[in-house]
Amino acid sequence: MKKFRGILITFAMIIGLVLPLFSNSVAEAKVVTDDEGQQVDIPDSYFVKDVAEKEKSAHQRADFYKPIFTYWADNPNTPLSSINADLAKKMPDFTTFNDFLDRYNRVSHSNGEGNRELFSALAHDPYEFILLGNHGFLDDESVRINSLIYGAIAKPSDMTVYNGTGNAKIQNALSLAFKEWEKDPRFHFRMVNDSQKAKVVVTDLNHDSTSAKSFEPGFQAIFLPTIVYQQCLVQGKIVLSPDIEKLDMNDPELIHTVIHEMGHAVGRPDLI
Ligand SMILES: [Zn+2]
Repeated sequence: MKKFRGILITFAMIIGLVLPLFSNSVAEAKVVTDDEGQQVDIPDSYFVKDVAEKEKSAHQRADFYKPIFTYWADNPNTPLSSINADLAKKMPDFTTFNDFLDRYNRVSHSNGEGNRELFSALAHDPYEFILLGNHGFLDDESVRINSLIYGAIAKPSDMTVYNGTGNAKIQNALSLAFKEWEKDPRFHFRMVNDSQKAKVVVTDLNHDSTSAKSFEPGFQAIFLPTIVYQQCLVQGKIVLSPDIEKLDMNDPELIHTVIHEMGHAVGRPDLI
């Protein structure tokens, strides 16, 4: 599934645009299988309220799309406009199934045959696409992220952060990082003292030696998504190198590194 992430996000977003989400009222707890196939526990508060209602509506949407997309995929030279003119107006990218595949193969630079099977399977069962567009009913507050690994963040207005380094210099840099990224009003940060309750765990190689293999020589720090569910970031970690932690509290390199990595936690890509 990994290689199709970009395409899936794009496709899920198209469906999401046509039939947007609504708001709701009761919370629900969940143990789920994340995008890496691991069983993970996601706090109740990360989900939208009234998940059951949303699931029902997603099934209704899937029932609506299913016969249209099934016909479209099974008759790959028939334009969507000949199958359902209203839907085709809302989805201008959906011409014929073959055209659609050609275009996505170009965008994703991938070999077409796997895409044909994937899209055909999803056209026959669009519920999975709708789940992706809804990010598994996690509350993404309608903030969209431009990343190939995730397309949203659970509750970006409440970015909980745990400082697992026990280092006061890092605490200071985190405060500055919060100020920097809160310039974007969609994000708000707060410290928590339990790593389980944190969306961002800040650690170092002393406390997390398993991350050493992810470090390339010369890297000062890395951000690693640790829980991604239905392409929504639930938890990630910032791992700092010993070289960074050695620096003085006010050293611009230390501060810049922490700000930079926290930027990844709110979906900012590296600028090449
Ligand atoms: Zn970076």
